[in-house]
Amino acid sequence: MFAIGAVVYLAEFAPMTEVWVECPDCAGKKYLRVILGNDEEVTIDCVCYRGKVAQWEPKAEAVLHTVRGLETMEGADGIQIRYKFSGGRVVDSRDVFATDPEAMIRAEERGEKYAAAQNKRELAKEKDHKTWAWHVHYHRREVKRAKGEMERHEAKLDVAKKKDRGTK
Ligand SMILES: [Zn+2]
Repeated sequence: MFAIGAVVYLAEFAPMTEVWVECPDCAGKKYLRVILGNDEEVTIDCVCYRGKVAQWEPKAEAVLHTVRGLETMEGADGIQIRYKFSGGRVVDSRDVFATDPEAMIRAEERGEKYAAAQNKRELAKEKDHKTWAWHVHYHRREVKRAKGEMERHEAKLDVAKKKDRGTK
């Protein structure tokens, strides 16, 4: 346990380091081949950004702070200690260390855990709005609709032509 006034290392990480990796769906090709139920093969654009998707790569840090206060609480797994720092920050004792290397190990652990969850969410987000079959069906429906409209317009032109001829 650290006393008030002790200088400690907090296991922290900067979450917002963005890296771009090859899209796992199209393998960087930017398009996908989808095989439909009738064995027909179609090619559609991937929704990734130029064959890449964003992933988080947190930067682990051990940050020096001075303990300003502490509180103990009886929890399910025994006594829990939480340290207080300037600016009203409260940190669980799991993230407070006496040395830099110890804090770094924990910081990396925390960062990796965060990144794993975040990256999974990032990929899931893409998957959500790209069920490939849906895209194929959507475009087909639109083509069919547009064709129908075209035929209707063409028929109207034909009628107009016939009328033209009729009056002459
Ligand atoms: Zn892709």
